[in-house]
Amino acid sequence: MNKNLRKTVIAGNWKMNKTRREAEELIKQLRTNNTKVNIVVCVPYTNLQTAVEGFKGCSVKVGAQNVHFEKSGAFTGEISADMLKEIGAEYVIIGHSERRQYFGETDETVNKRTKAALDAGLIPIMCVGELLDEREAGITEEVVSRQTKLGLAGFTADEVKKTIIAYEPVWAIGTGRTATAEQAGDACGLIRGVIAKLYSKEVADAVTIQYGGSMNANNAAELLAQEDVDGGLIGGASLSAEDFGIIIKAAGA
Ligand code: PEP
Repeated sequence: MNKNLRKTVIAGNWKMNKTRREAEELIKQLRTNNTKVNIVVCVPYTNLQTAVEGFKGCSVKVGAQNVHFEKSGAFTGEISADMLKEIGAEYVIIGHSERRQYFGETDETVNKRTKAALDAGLIPIMCVGELLDEREAGITEEVVSRQTKLGLAGFTADEVKKTIIAYEPVWAIGTGRTATAEQAGDACGLIRGVIAKLYSKEVADAVTIQYGGSMNANNAAELLAQEDVDGGLIGGASLSAEDFGIIIKAAGA
């Protein structure tokens, strides 16, 4: 399948940034009506309602940064997929490396959260990516393949097609050190190859695979031009309306 036939998704990850007042300001600057690129802004839980209201009437969609896999119950501090859906979120980041590193996220919980998101009608952005040690040890392929396989375990072909995968090498996140366009393209191609083996070429060709890791206004065009890179998951640069706008343009808008 031609890259142009897949959905290009540019998603911002605000991480733990922006009070409500700051969020309102940035949302005003980010409002746009863009039909060529799917634009998503993943905000802290406390800004979800503000974002849903602030982006009403424009093409920007709202996402969360995590979701619990149970529907309800004694899980203090957690938020369910139905709660996200009810508030108007349409996307959710799952398995971000910061959650894997600091909050005990595993391939198994990533799989369960992704399934819960799909069941509730949310679009999951499932993150995978190797540590610096793993790249230097030459096991990037092994790590990224394992995370992809376990993250998607038990999914139907239809569920896989609805899942966005973000390849985010951990050494490139928030470090200013970006993967080269070739490294990004190769890893995204590798993920597509894993899906083709597990399901079919038709399924693999339909999946949106993003690159994330210090993508910015200067390097976005080259990264996004790669055949297997269908968009970006952007942290730092998504906090600047100007930079985020340049990245959206680089994606073909
Ligand atoms: C991210 O948070 O997913 C990310 C890629 O961050 P940054 O763009 O800041 O590296």
